[in-house]
Amino acid sequence: MILMSFKHSVARLAWPLLAPLVALTALTACSDDDAAPADEAAVNVVVGLYPFQFLVQEVGGDLVAVTNLTQPGAEPHDLELTPGQVAAVGRADLVVYLPELQSAVDEAVAQAGDGLAVVDVSQAVALLPGHDEQGEAMGTDPHVWLDPERMADIATATAEALAQADPDHAEAYQSGAGRLRASLAALDQQYADGLADCARQVFITSHAAFGYLADRYGLTQVPIAGLSPDAEPSPARVAAVQALATQHGVTTIFFEVLASPALADAIASDLGLRTAVLDPIEGLSDQSQADDYVGLMRANLEALRQANQCS
Ligand SMILES: [Zn+2]
Repeated sequence: MILMSFKHSVARLAWPLLAPLVALTALTACSDDDAAPADEAAVNVVVGLYPFQFLVQEVGGDLVAVTNLTQPGAEPHDLELTPGQVAAVGRADLVVYLPELQSAVDEAVAQAGDGLAVVDVSQAVALLPGHDEQGEAMGTDPHVWLDPERMADIATATAEALAQADPDHAEAYQSGAGRLRASLAALDQQYADGLADCARQVFITSHAAFGYLADRYGLTQVPIAGLSPDAEPSPARVAAVQALATQHGVTTIFFEVLASPALADAIASDLGLRTAVLDPIEGLSDQSQADDYVGLMRANLEALRQANQCS
């Protein structure tokens, strides 16, 4: 009963966030309701999910118009594209994407052919191997954006690609990337300092989104589900997570804003633990605890510090 509801509540749409997009589309009188509002003066960039949207906006500022293929409040792993969105990928001046994260985006990029300019994130940063919830090897882990240093490398690659697409503004893209790298370096230092002295390094999460973060800051992630939030854990997995929680003196079961907290709630209440949000930053919604990537990373740091009793 607990397990049933886990995957069915991912699509809480954030209407307050969606409304401005709808208005913008109407203003530009775009005939294709799924396509980006095309600003003549801007470089049109298409991304598959929010962290890359944030990154392109920080690097490109007013010079870019970014279309995120995942709607606000939706979960990006199982993204499906409308024909209009596939067409928008084909028309883009640049696509920033991570192959094997969203197969619909991979297909749209392949369909667009060699003429399409892309930032292939897997070429910009080293990927870690993925694991399912049992720890078995499973492809690569897509959640690169939860490591600030990798985000900085993707920013560099994005600035280079934007400069190629729009050489007149190459300098602006370089300085945008420089500002973003400085802010990510500060964030990285806050994490290193904030997690240096803690009662424990183990944390329990809904899905295995935090492998890069754990790897960078010497933590151990125990995911209830696997690399994708719609993989439902078995009762045996739930029992194993509970045993690990007890063994490590875990105080908190983390859940996500874009997936149901039912399973985390059930595990926590069985053991008398608290629950808290640890956001994989796969998208923004009206439930998000901050309004951008850096704010959400800071909120995650505070949540980890509290759960692991860091001084
Ligand atoms: Zn994920």
